[in-house]
Amino acid sequence: MAKKRVLLLGSTGSIGESTDQVVQSLAGELDLVGLAAHSSWERLLEQIRIHSPEAVALVNPEAAGKLRESLASGKDDSLRSPKIYEGEEGLVELVRETEADVLVAAISGAAGLPANIAALETGKDLALANKESLVMSGSILTRLARDKDLRILPVDSEHSAIFQSLQGSSLEEVERIILTASGGPFRQTSAEELKDVTRQDALNHPTWEMGEKITIDSATLMNKALEIIEARWLFDLPPEQIEVVVHPQSIIHSLVEYRDGSTICQLGPPDMRVPIQYALTYPRRLPLPVERVSLAELGQLTFESPDTVRFPALRLAYEVLEQGGTAATVFNASNEIAVSSFLKEEIPFLGILKVVETCLKQHNAVDNPDLESIFAADEWARLETEKILRLECKESA
Ligand code: MG
Repeated sequence: MAKKRVLLLGSTGSIGESTDQVVQSLAGELDLVGLAAHSSWERLLEQIRIHSPEAVALVNPEAAGKLRESLASGKDDSLRSPKIYEGEEGLVELVRETEADVLVAAISGAAGLPANIAALETGKDLALANKESLVMSGSILTRLARDKDLRILPVDSEHSAIFQSLQGSSLEEVERIILTASGGPFRQTSAEELKDVTRQDALNHPTWEMGEKITIDSATLMNKALEIIEARWLFDLPPEQIEVVVHPQSIIHSLVEYRDGSTICQLGPPDMRVPIQYALTYPRRLPLPVERVSLAELGQLTFESPDTVRFPALRLAYEVLEQGGTAATVFNASNEIAVSSFLKEEIPFLGILKVVETCLKQHNAVDNPDLESIFAADEWARLETEKILRLECKESA
């Protein structure tokens, strides 16, 4: 059987590195034919040596220049030089011009959307880790996939768990799906204490090691809020059938409850290689050397309801779904700006959701948006959030 041709965007990030490992351990099955990173050209060069891809892209043109120089300097005689693309447009060109079966979308944030659309337009399945693109334009991506008869395979661990628990059943048989949430580092922090938590506290996630943006999103529960919207699109379910339960051990990755009262779930170690590999080898299950779950050793798994007062993100997710149209685009974009402001220590932790909620209130959602209105709403939300942030800073000064 021919190897599956894989394109990987975001190859030097957390999901990208895990994908790299999965591909190396399944070298007889998978071939990494294209790689893209933002600016970590030295790490990309190492990945080129391992996988000899046909093409690579670096979003940062300066980094692309350095990679070109290094490859031309001749130290890597044995290496077939890949075609090198650069810039935001380069990312999309790489996707359009490289023949592949599947794109692993592991760029975080709205920046990943144009490449994901290009992948579907050129006949590639999407293995989607970039939940933001589905949140901001779920109707467009899912319609495109349906029209082209392509798959959007979840890489997000919760959605992979639901996808796995749905095998052999049909959606009409589903009563509800239940996303599990670790609760993040502040699960037991009081509302009063939350006022003073620092960037460092928020970056210290109890069970998952991930990139900075998603780690902050896990601390605010915004990550779960985005995942509710992601699930709505991936599984085409109304918001009333999507629920969240806090499960601090992150062993059960999500559950599907059926109309006959049975609940099916997927358990596994908190290791992203599991959902990544399942997305790449679906519907087959192949060997993977990850830690095994020992229930006896764990002793107990615990569950609790999420607190939507301390963590308003979940409440907002349902409001956003209720509003529809471009509301989710604004929700996502405003959060991206607010998180980067928090990471720069300009606003307090509780300021993140406060800013996002203010921005949402100012937005007039556009129904059935086309791509242009989505990008317009995204840009509006970024500028509006910056405006709100400047006002906040003035007030607290
Ligand atoms: Mg997740």
